[in-house]
Amino acid sequence: MRSKRPEESFLEYKQRVLDTKSASFCGAKWYNATIWLGSGQTTSCHHPLPHAIPLDKLTDNPSAIHNTDQKKMERFMMQTGQRPSGCEYCWRIEDSSSTAISDRPYKSMIYSEEELNTAFQLPSDTDVNLRTLEIAFDRTCNFACSYCNPAFSTTWVKDIKNNGPYNNLVSDGRNHFTHLHDSSQLYGFTDTNPYVEAFFKWWETNLHKTLRELRITGGEPLMSGHTWKLLDWFKNNRGKSQTKLAINSNLGLERAKLEEFVDKIRDLPHVEVYTSCEAFKDQAEYIRDGLNYYQWFDNLVYLQKSGAVKQLHVMATINGLCLLSLPDFLEHMMDFKMGYGRDSLTVTLNILRFPSFQSPVVMPYGIKEECAIALEKFLERHEHGSYLHQMEIEHIKRLIKYLRTAKSPHDGASHIDLLERDFKNFYEQYDIRRNKDFIKTFSALEYWYSGI
Ligand code: SF4
Repeated sequence: MRSKRPEESFLEYKQRVLDTKSASFCGAKWYNATIWLGSGQTTSCHHPLPHAIPLDKLTDNPSAIHNTDQKKMERFMMQTGQRPSGCEYCWRIEDSSSTAISDRPYKSMIYSEEELNTAFQLPSDTDVNLRTLEIAFDRTCNFACSYCNPAFSTTWVKDIKNNGPYNNLVSDGRNHFTHLHDSSQLYGFTDTNPYVEAFFKWWETNLHKTLRELRITGGEPLMSGHTWKLLDWFKNNRGKSQTKLAINSNLGLERAKLEEFVDKIRDLPHVEVYTSCEAFKDQAEYIRDGLNYYQWFDNLVYLQKSGAVKQLHVMATINGLCLLSLPDFLEHMMDFKMGYGRDSLTVTLNILRFPSFQSPVVMPYGIKEECAIALEKFLERHEHGSYLHQMEIEHIKRLIKYLRTAKSPHDGASHIDLLERDFKNFYEQYDIRRNKDFIKTFSALEYWYSGI
């Protein structure tokens, strides 16, 4: 539900709707949340660091998994024009120029002006029902992608448990790979998790009436019993909730499991599936350990043909190693679109920043330039055809520019020499632990890799 007027720019919207309330008001603080039920943490959007949900509040008030004292204090700050420090991402952009647009307008305009007015006027300690929610039940996952870590994958936990920490990593981000991240999973899989219990209690009493979008992430959500419990609720309570459902899945599933999923969602009003891949065939399987490329692609086709999913999305995490085959991968996605239609699939290119030694910036100049040229040729072939969305064209152009201009993965990242060294230190250990062969898989990088 957009509340921005069609003729209005984002700046005009900000001035009319947000600035007239206060200099720091943002609708996401009331109506949006990401909640990690495994670790008992929440945040308002992806920018502020997550904070702990106090357990003692949950017995009487399950909505306290969102309405924490910290968020209530930050809502008060936003109602009175003060800036919560966790939202520094937005303040930094806004301070760079009076016309710069941070995420605040984008994250607010998905709610109606009436909802925003209500949020602004409510006493700040009022419990609010969410409109948009991203939730992770636990970190169970059958993949251990190179850019992931034990906080989000039980297969990654096994790697560290069986082989110990990755050694000799010195750049920022090294701690992703040195311990088990036990704080990400406070309860065993057979234990009762009070955060999960609170979620279902809130969902069944109230949340299913007000929530417009629920996105389930993980781990791999389709390996979590809690996801299936929620799917059963939808199936058994047909028509009771209008919530749009989105599932992040690696689609590394046996067909029987996917058929079961399709059976559960078939009659739901709106289900979208988000999956991830960014490279082609064996290079993709190297990066996303656990992936069988053709199983993944067949599952994508199966979901499309099932007619049960409203929209499929492929999220590409642009890391250094995907640059060699990203153009071929995008061509494969174009084949899919040509077979099933422009709107059957969207592809987003999300540039990896952490761990910084896996950033595309670390790749040698020639590899980045070759990828940029191949992407330009890709655009020459497809930009004026009828299969690419404008957003996809913008993402490809943004990546081409990034490959040619970015000097560092993020502010404060380690020096490129250190990142290169960590790149090699990491993949040498990854090869042994995962039974892989870097040089064989990425032969075009052999000269550079051997010379580090
Ligand atoms: S102000 Fe910015 S960082 Fe804070 S919740 Fe809104 S969009 Fe997120």
